[in-house]
Amino acid sequence: MDTQRSGAAVLDPSEPIEIADRVWWVGHYLEGDPFQCHVYLIERGDQSVLFDPGSVLTFRHTLRKIEAVTRFSNIRYFVCHHQDPDITGALPLIDQLVSRPDAVLVCHWRARTLVRHYGLTLPFWLIEDNAWQLDLGGRLLRFIFTPYAHFPGAFVTFDTHTRVLFSSDLFGGFTEGFQLFAQDRGYFENLRPFHEHYIPSRDVLQFALNNIEAEPIGMIAPQHGSIIPEPLVPYMIERLRQLDCGLFLLSKDNADIKRLMTLNQAMKSIRETMILHRDFQDIAHNLLGIAQELLPALSLEFFARTGEGAILHLSPDNRFRGRLIEDLPAPLAHIVRAAERGAVCTYCALEDPHRGRPAIAVPLVTPGAGCIEAVAVIDLAVPVQASEETESIIMQMVPPLQVAVERETVYRMLDMERQRFYETSIRDPLTNLFTRFYMQETVTRLMGIHDRDGHAAIALMMIDVDHFKDVNDTFGHSQGDSVLQAVAECLQYAVRPGDLPVRLGGEEFAVFLVGATLERATEVAERLRRRMAAMVFTGPMEGHTITASFGVALRCQGETLDQFLDRCDAALYAAKKAGRDRVRVAP
Ligand code: GH3
Ligand code: MG
Ligand code: MG
Repeated sequence: MDTQRSGAAVLDPSEPIEIADRVWWVGHYLEGDPFQCHVYLIERGDQSVLFDPGSVLTFRHTLRKIEAVTRFSNIRYFVCHHQDPDITGALPLIDQLVSRPDAVLVCHWRARTLVRHYGLTLPFWLIEDNAWQLDLGGRLLRFIFTPYAHFPGAFVTFDTHTRVLFSSDLFGGFTEGFQLFAQDRGYFENLRPFHEHYIPSRDVLQFALNNIEAEPIGMIAPQHGSIIPEPLVPYMIERLRQLDCGLFLLSKDNADIKRLMTLNQAMKSIRETMILHRDFQDIAHNLLGIAQELLPALSLEFFARTGEGAILHLSPDNRFRGRLIEDLPAPLAHIVRAAERGAVCTYCALEDPHRGRPAIAVPLVTPGAGCIEAVAVIDLAVPVQASEETESIIMQMVPPLQVAVERETVYRMLDMERQRFYETSIRDPLTNLFTRFYMQETVTRLMGIHDRDGHAAIALMMIDVDHFKDVNDTFGHSQGDSVLQAVAECLQYAVRPGDLPVRLGGEEFAVFLVGATLERATEVAERLRRRMAAMVFTGPMEGHTITASFGVALRCQGETLDQFLDRCDAALYAAKKAGRDRVRVAP
């Protein structure tokens, strides 16, 4: 039991506790009840006020504490901020005790319509009929309307003298033990679940907070939870402003508040993810994390239809850069068709034999367009039972996800277009090797590095097909083309990823070997030479062989590209002169 008021004397819940100048806590601590109901008394002679008198369970204790402060008959005003039994349950008992004729029950007419059923003799004093304020002879209480904060006639009371806000259910929280004063900002976490499902909507809460904030609040004394001292007041108001309420709306038939809170958190994270992240890989990564809070999710991938009708597959396998595929995998196509026909479908369980594991597919519908543009697939470790909760979280995910996937598809398609355009200018269409244009640019960059760092060597081999003119002349130009393609394939096969195979023109090729020694370049050339000579042709050229001559050179620091090429070409010429089908190394 925490009975400490930060740094002050021990608070004893069996006695009245003065929380501000002549403002007393006269509630009763109910053992093991996280829903403590506080009763407050403003002691002001025969104009005293009792706030939210309480229930039958606690009133006898409350009465004892009141009597310890002042005579019960000094209470003229019984304020009921709303009509709940933990506030009004004790009214029949009070009704019997009150003897003074000017005592009144202060409430909103909405509460009166309900409270009158107690059949009390105590008259009602309606706040809206009294300009929303009560003058206690120089001490003004202002009533602040907080409608729909769970009850249409709900209000709170601001004491202008002490600046205490008797906030009723607002700012209330769940507590363990007797904790009359909130110790630190951590109290917000007690307050959060109380409000998240209790207050029906954010708008309602905002309205109430706007009205409340108009007053210079010095302390908040709620009916439940802990009293908020002045230093914590702005923080609690600010946090409450950002709170999403109406948790029960998220999942009907589900009263598990903890689960609803998790759900609410997930939805907030989804929105934040969409707002904060532009990179689709980040979005996908974050969404997977959120999904994993709720489902045994393993991975997340997307299939989106492009403008040209192809399908863009965004998956962890292609690091969400996207890969074009001809068509949707069969089970997905089935779901999409069903959804396009208008079948209501937030998600479908997949038991795809190809995937070999359970998954759920979520059609992402373009709002207004009505047709399915994309599908999200969540792979699962184990199958999940369809539940309202899964459904509601998925429904929340769909609109932002749809936008993100659509945006990404447009970007990816533009990117691919750009890539295609770029490749046509850097790739030779016949052989798919790099062009001279590209070589110029890239090798110049490599040479710059070599000039600064002698270890970043560049070796070059130049290749010229022997008597190629004869191939054209004998078998025709198209056979000649095929030979060039075969030679190019040989080159591609022989080089490492960082190397640069180029078609210099005609039947002349070059390969820049990055970081290679002259020995290795010569070795590669020799291997290539043998490989080309061993090429087997089918069709008209069946039984014929092709050879090529090779020049090899190692770049000297400071050498220009032309000088480097010339030196290598001289070695190639030497190979030709020496009888072709051989490798010569430039000095
Ligand atoms: P050498 O052994 O001395 O290199 O003799 P070669 O016949 O290979 O050399 P030459 O330079 O005389 O002939 C090259 C031929 O390559 C001439 C040209 O018509 C042909 N050629 C150039 N580009 C292409 C092409 O894209 N396709 C085809 N089929 N032939 C081409
Ligand atoms: Mg030639
Ligand atoms: Mg030639």
